[in-house]
Amino acid sequence: FVNNVEEFFTFCEENDVQFVDFRFTDIKGAWHHISYRMSAVSAGQLENGLPFDGSSIEAWQPINKSDMLLKVDIGTAFLDPFTADPTIIVFCDVYDIYKNQAYERCPRSIAKAALKHAEDLGIADAAYFGPENEFFMFDSVTFVDNINEAGYKVDTEEGEWNSNNPYPDMYNTGHRPGTKGGYFPVAPTDSAVDIRAEMMQVLEQVGLEVVLGHHEVAQAQHELGIVFSDIIGAADNVQKYKYVVKMIAHLNGKTATFMPKPLYGDNGNGMHVHQSLWKDGKNLFYAPGNYANLSEMALNYTAGIFKHARAVAAFTNPTTNSYKRLLPGFEAPSILTYSSQNRSAACRIPYGAGEMATRIEMRFPDSTACPYLAFAVMMMAGLDGIKNKDIPVGPMDEDLFELSLDEIRQKKIPQMPHTLRGSLEALIRDNDFLKPVFTQEFVDAYQQYRFERDVFPDEGRPTAYEFKTTYQ
Ligand code: GLU
Ligand code: MG
Ligand code: MG
Repeated sequence: FVNNVEEFFTFCEENDVQFVDFRFTDIKGAWHHISYRMSAVSAGQLENGLPFDGSSIEAWQPINKSDMLLKVDIGTAFLDPFTADPTIIVFCDVYDIYKNQAYERCPRSIAKAALKHAEDLGIADAAYFGPENEFFMFDSVTFVDNINEAGYKVDTEEGEWNSNNPYPDMYNTGHRPGTKGGYFPVAPTDSAVDIRAEMMQVLEQVGLEVVLGHHEVAQAQHELGIVFSDIIGAADNVQKYKYVVKMIAHLNGKTATFMPKPLYGDNGNGMHVHQSLWKDGKNLFYAPGNYANLSEMALNYTAGIFKHARAVAAFTNPTTNSYKRLLPGFEAPSILTYSSQNRSAACRIPYGAGEMATRIEMRFPDSTACPYLAFAVMMMAGLDGIKNKDIPVGPMDEDLFELSLDEIRQKKIPQMPHTLRGSLEALIRDNDFLKPVFTQEFVDAYQQYRFERDVFPDEGRPTAYEFKTTYQ
């Protein structure tokens, strides 16, 4: 791992590096790359930026203003564990050469600006994030080639889709879930021990600090525990984590998916996000003696996220599938209250944490979120809660999935939106809290992009389930 351009070139020479892979993240969180021959990379480019075509990325630049710069974050360089030729990967930020500033639609730059905003307010000088990205691993076979526009299989040997399965296997035609019960029983019930071990080893090679790995509650579902990091480092780690998990699964003949709800009737994939704010080396969320050792500021921060949760969800739960996960009963919460230990609340306070580890765990986000945007948006909402001294409903230690809708209303507990449309409409009304960092232009473009890419095509498409239930 290198600190400056000089060390970068020395490292590349020592490791016989043949290619430099410049990587950047778009607004839906996809990681993109451009590979340069090592011989074509100069110190000047690493210091000043490399040109690329910004119009080829969804919801970025128009064709007539397509030239953009990639600004290299040299300290992020690491060797790609998967290429045949030694290749070094570096994270980049996108720079707008027309406005001569960080590109207002670059998620990584936005997250940096959000941290700077916390500093400017005098509230915090560090923000720590610990995302937990769950995933499924399925046997991999051909993808959607034989899926028609309505979303069901055509030309299969059986002909029609199987009416016992209301959801045809769109994501993975080869997936054959076994019996449930992989959670905690050892091998051979848990058949992914070696693959998870391989993932954990490679994650450490690329610089993540790995604590544990385990089968998750749903069939074929897994999670690897990674140590928290600062806001940018944690989001960078999500990109590396997804890359490594997907690649190792692929090399083992499997497909890994972070899709929030791939299986009907079983737990989905979350991206719980642990969070704390710090100043002068002190954890601002810690106040011994209070409920779960939580400070007033931690409660204000939590309340800010809850207050804006409907708009926040447009970033933390940004796909139509996200809302299928948030139904009660699957450990994915939609009820906006907090509790120590309780996994049915949107915010859990991990039990028994001391001065260094006291934090909140937001449980509603999922991995379809762009990590940079999700973290930045939650922090902006939290900072707004701190400014306004907001107080969340709670604590509530009972099983909230048992509450009836009437009880939820009576107790005035706010809830997550039930659809992506609901979140995006909330974002249109409620985005002032983002203003210090997000431009209106970006919020509008994001919202429009999600409507056009996710909401409208989904709303207009008959589903397999409708074919089963509609009497015509
Ligand atoms: N899979 C659950 C979710 O969708 C979470 C399970 C857990 O608590 O780790 O959020
Ligand atoms: Mg989990
Ligand atoms: Mg968790």
